[in-house]
Amino acid sequence: MKQSVLIVGAGIGGLATALRLSNQGYKVHIVEKHHQAGGRLNQLQKDGFTFDTGPSFFSMSYEFRELAQSCNIRLPFDFIELDPLYSVNFNNNPKTYHLYKDINKLAAQFEQEEPDFDRKIKKYLTKCSRLFHDTVDIVIKQNFNSMLDYLLALVKVNPSHIPVLFKKFNQQVKSYFDSKEAQQIISLVAFFLGRTPFDTSAIYTLLSYTEFQHDGYYNVKGGMYNIVKGLVKELEKRQVSISYNTEIVDFVSDGRTLTALIDRNDNKWSADVMVINADAAVFRGSVLKRRAFSAENLDKKEWTMGYLTIYLGVKCKLPEIHHHNYYLGDNFNEYARNVHKNPNSLQKPYYYVNVLSKHNQECAPEGCESLFFVCPVPDLRHKPDWSDKEVIADSIISDFSKRIKRDLKPEIVSQTIYTPEDWRNQFNLHRGSGLGLSHSLLQIGALRPRNYDEQFKNVFYVGASTIPGAGLPMAIISSKLTVERVENYSTRKLKKMKAI
Ligand SMILES: Cc1cc2nc3c(=O)[nH]c(=O)nc-3n(C[C@H](O)[C@H](O)[C@H](O)COP(=O)(O)OP(=O)(O)OC[C@H]3O[C@@H](n4cnc5c(N)ncnc54)[C@H](O)[C@@H]3O)c2cc1C
Repeated sequence: MKQSVLIVGAGIGGLATALRLSNQGYKVHIVEKHHQAGGRLNQLQKDGFTFDTGPSFFSMSYEFRELAQSCNIRLPFDFIELDPLYSVNFNNNPKTYHLYKDINKLAAQFEQEEPDFDRKIKKYLTKCSRLFHDTVDIVIKQNFNSMLDYLLALVKVNPSHIPVLFKKFNQQVKSYFDSKEAQQIISLVAFFLGRTPFDTSAIYTLLSYTEFQHDGYYNVKGGMYNIVKGLVKELEKRQVSISYNTEIVDFVSDGRTLTALIDRNDNKWSADVMVINADAAVFRGSVLKRRAFSAENLDKKEWTMGYLTIYLGVKCKLPEIHHHNYYLGDNFNEYARNVHKNPNSLQKPYYYVNVLSKHNQECAPEGCESLFFVCPVPDLRHKPDWSDKEVIADSIISDFSKRIKRDLKPEIVSQTIYTPEDWRNQFNLHRGSGLGLSHSLLQIGALRPRNYDEQFKNVFYVGASTIPGAGLPMAIISSKLTVERVENYSTRKLKKMKAI
């Protein structure tokens, strides 16, 4: 008889773990603070519009396929490959750059700005590809039992990559491209990690390979939230249920194991094994009351940026806008150096716009569009007061109207704004940081909060702030690594019981 598992959090990490464990015969139950599943991969339905509230595309689609295959199911949602990956617009530049995966089509757009772009990007991507293939299995898809274990893994990485360790993303890109347009566009992917090209290690240029060549980016038919709906349906078939509006705030232990978790209404939740999908650092601090993870100590760590997100329903069609669009200003260096600390950077905001209804007409009433804006902003440590959120949103919408040469304000019939405060309150994200702990070299691998507990041997963690890191495919990999730990623990426990 397999053991019972309680999962705290129905984010993508929690749902994927539940699927894997229930497939292995564990009896799984999930408790979730929010009123619906998905965590940051969530959905807002309002005024006849449907919005994906967080992720709008993902990479490494094969990780989702592996999840489905290993659980003997068909993938419960359909995904669509993106090409172009996204479009980029600069302020005061009428040209729109489309990031095609076809290098010839991509290079044709840089003929004026970056002579020989074709040769340069091929050379750059060859290096990125080596970085990816030389690290993914050794460092990203591995559990580490100790620091020594981690160091021994690092030693196996091809030493030709050592110089990259001492560079930042923007420096690496600059050594291949001369024009500011090529440099800025190729560096944008660093923002997807929740930091900037100036403070992200050059190792992450491997992401350029994942976007352009390895597997690209994908959307989900009907909206990203269909991932969650599909997984929840599969879980229901396996009798895995979810208790919503249930926030864990305290615990009971016998010193070596966690015997129960306690929710805000004083209900006790027990199981043989507990898997925590709530942020691995925040939970250790706020629920397990560990000093090393107190709010003050967490403040000293490096966190990813906050996000101001705007969900707009407009009563017009916008055929000129693509599915995924970046709108950049003309002060990239100054902006990137300031954005996660200095609220003044919002005077010239850089932002992303997704038009969900473009290919999913059911997500907006007829003749309307549902738009989703994401603007990187300082977290609550650096901007605690968001009473000016309407003013900031208004300036973003004005800027967007100027860029598309059409006043959008009279067309708005639905508007919702989430600030870092809302992101924190909804999902317990530290100071409203959007992606959790950053991926600085001192916060990855064995240096990230572990996926097994320091004290309680029946407690494990899954999701963005434990290994390997943030993003949807990483959460799927994280679930695989966590399940490996749970299986090892259960097998050891079973052997011990048999021996007795
Ligand atoms: C605006 C935005 C855009 C993004 N865009 C992309 C993108 O395009 N592509 C991509 O791959 N990634 C993107 N990401 C990142 C991606 O959303 C996350 O990395 C991923 O969803 C994290 O999943 P998770 O399971 O680790 O955590 P979460 O989604 O945070 O799930 C954790 C769950 O635990 C619950 N919880 C927390 N504390 C408790 C408690 N004490 N008791 C009970 N429940 C609790 C939370 O409510 C939540 O539901 C984006 C993130 C944001 C915020």
